Amino acid sequence: MKKKSSILDAYKEKRDFQVTPEPPPGPVGPRRGPPRFMVHKHDARRLHYDLRLEMDDALASWAIPKGPSYDPKVRRLAIQTEDHPLAYGEFEGRIPEGEYGAGDSLIWDRGVYETVPPGQGSFMRKKGHVEFVLWGEKLKGRWHLVRTRAPGKTDKAQWILFKAKDEHASEIFDVVVERPESVKSGKRVTRGPIPAHVGAAPGDPVKMLIAVWPPLVPAGRPVKEAPPDFLLEAYGDGPRALAGVSRGRVALQSEKGRDLAAVNPVAVSALARLAVIEAAVDGELSLDGTRFVAHDLLWLDGADLRDRPLEERRELLAGILPPRDRRVSLAPQPADGSERALAAARRQGLTRLMAKRRQSRYASGPSRDWRPVETPKGSGPSRPLRRKKPH
Ligand code: MN
Repeated sequence: MKKKSSILDAYKEKRDFQVTPEPPPGPVGPRRGPPRFMVHKHDARRLHYDLRLEMDDALASWAIPKGPSYDPKVRRLAIQTEDHPLAYGEFEGRIPEGEYGAGDSLIWDRGVYETVPPGQGSFMRKKGHVEFVLWGEKLKGRWHLVRTRAPGKTDKAQWILFKAKDEHASEIFDVVVERPESVKSGKRVTRGPIPAHVGAAPGDPVKMLIAVWPPLVPAGRPVKEAPPDFLLEAYGDGPRALAGVSRGRVALQSEKGRDLAAVNPVAVSALARLAVIEAAVDGELSLDGTRFVAHDLLWLDGADLRDRPLEERRELLAGILPPRDRRVSLAPQPADGSERALAAARRQGLTRLMAKRRQSRYASGPSRDWRPVETPKGSGPSRPLRRKKPH
């Protein structure tokens, strides 16, 4: 019996589900309520925004290079792409190198939509004019998608997306610039595909570490609590360790350049699993040497991150750590210095807090943008966090 062709065949053919974390097409359950929509912000070869409208048991999709605009006078090119499975609505993550659409993809907006009049999505798409109302977190009100060029032998169908005139329309609100974040995770930083020259020659992780490792700078004085433009980060009592990873080879050094790799094989094997070609990570080892707690990211796949704001480096760092591997983890950033937040840090073997300026560039040691935090003493059952110079 010939296999029934599906509107998701094009989606399946482009992807290897052994490699990409994107969902394979699955069974479609009964759907209730108004159809959903979402917009992915996709940092692929070119950054673009993928608008997806649920119809015909799949997600009809358009790639919009400049993203939507609330200004009714602005027409945005929208290239129709292959239908995606419904489960794609939950997908946020990195599509690996060499896969179709390699790069980060965020859920930039989501909600429900309805055509005007309701229930006409499938028919309107065929006709080439979809008029619809969005109830998203960022996108609201009435919009139009109009087909301007039918698909050719090699080109996809071209459409334009524009805002209808209603109470949500605005000539001044630039939603793409003012709301860059994911509505799922809050993540703001995205990373495109890795340039082809990165890691082309087998790299020496030790040389890479030395290139980005500046000398220590003096520490600041302790503060009672973190000022508003600072964030808190928990530290332990283990030795500071700098990790260089290049094509799966790992260098691990103390801040004075002593080799720590040979005596910490467990941490080294965990670091080899980072989702990178090249990276330099500033972190610390647990006292028993079986865990590596990551604090900062200096270098990533051909890019020097030391002048980027701390918040951005930290987001990128979170994105390269292997999930659910206790051997390598991200240092917790408690929301405040309360006893409850500190107790959670202590359960991970972390004993002190630093306040770091959110926008600070990378400094190898405590900088003027870093402060140890005085923490409550003797409150609660566990010992209080001690003040100590970091590293
Ligand atoms: Mn895309």
